[in-house]
Amino acid sequence: MDALDTLVELSSQMELEHAEDSDGRVAPQGRIETTETTQPSCFTPKEKRAAFAHPAQLPNGKNIVLLKTLLSSACERDCYYCPFRAGRDFRRATFKPNEFADLFSKMHQRGLVEGVFLSSGIAGGGVRTQDKLLDTAEILRKKKGFRGYLHLKLMPGTEKDQVYRAMQLADRLSVNLEAPNSERLAKLAPHKIFIEELMRPLRMIEEIRRNEPAYKFWNGKYPPATNCVTADGYFPFQNL
Ligand code: SF4
Repeated sequence: MDALDTLVELSSQMELEHAEDSDGRVAPQGRIETTETTQPSCFTPKEKRAAFAHPAQLPNGKNIVLLKTLLSSACERDCYYCPFRAGRDFRRATFKPNEFADLFSKMHQRGLVEGVFLSSGIAGGGVRTQDKLLDTAEILRKKKGFRGYLHLKLMPGTEKDQVYRAMQLADRLSVNLEAPNSERLAKLAPHKIFIEELMRPLRMIEEIRRNEPAYKFWNGKYPPATNCVTADGYFPFQNL
């Protein structure tokens, strides 16, 4: 599998992941519609079949082509609604941080994508997985010189120093709460813990904001942090 094949595998379900609001130009399978405004002409046929790039609108109203992907589709959790949950039989793929950063950097230089939304399945715990996401972000920012839009997911159970580092690297952070409370979450994702794993990172962001000046963070601003209650009442993969 080459790096583009890995990306296609990892991004294939990402149209279901909420990131920046789309302006509605994404085709039903998450592929890019071939219009002049959304389809860079330099896409190869293989890239055109890929589902990794999504039109997205940033909070400032700017429209960009956003690469939405996981770093890894290997996951030890078993959230019922998720196509990547442990135990499902499908081919899993994983990028090393430098592999993804190399690929993204090349695509960015060619003008294929302008920003990135990066999440991951959990392997070896949330802290270890968060480290890999942060390593990737750091390579992009510091070695590749990428200054464009970066939206990073915070993994369940991430630690405060990791949240701090994420705020220094990303334009936006988010946490998938999945459900509005512990009781609902237990029915959807039996191994996620609502307060300790999912709410805590959001509280850490608030704490850091209260105690540290904005200039310490990416672009001298506090990155906005959002939470998504996406899974509750929505089971697109329950029969897979
Ligand atoms: S932890 Fe994330 S990737 Fe893993 S099964 Fe749950 S929602 Fe899916």
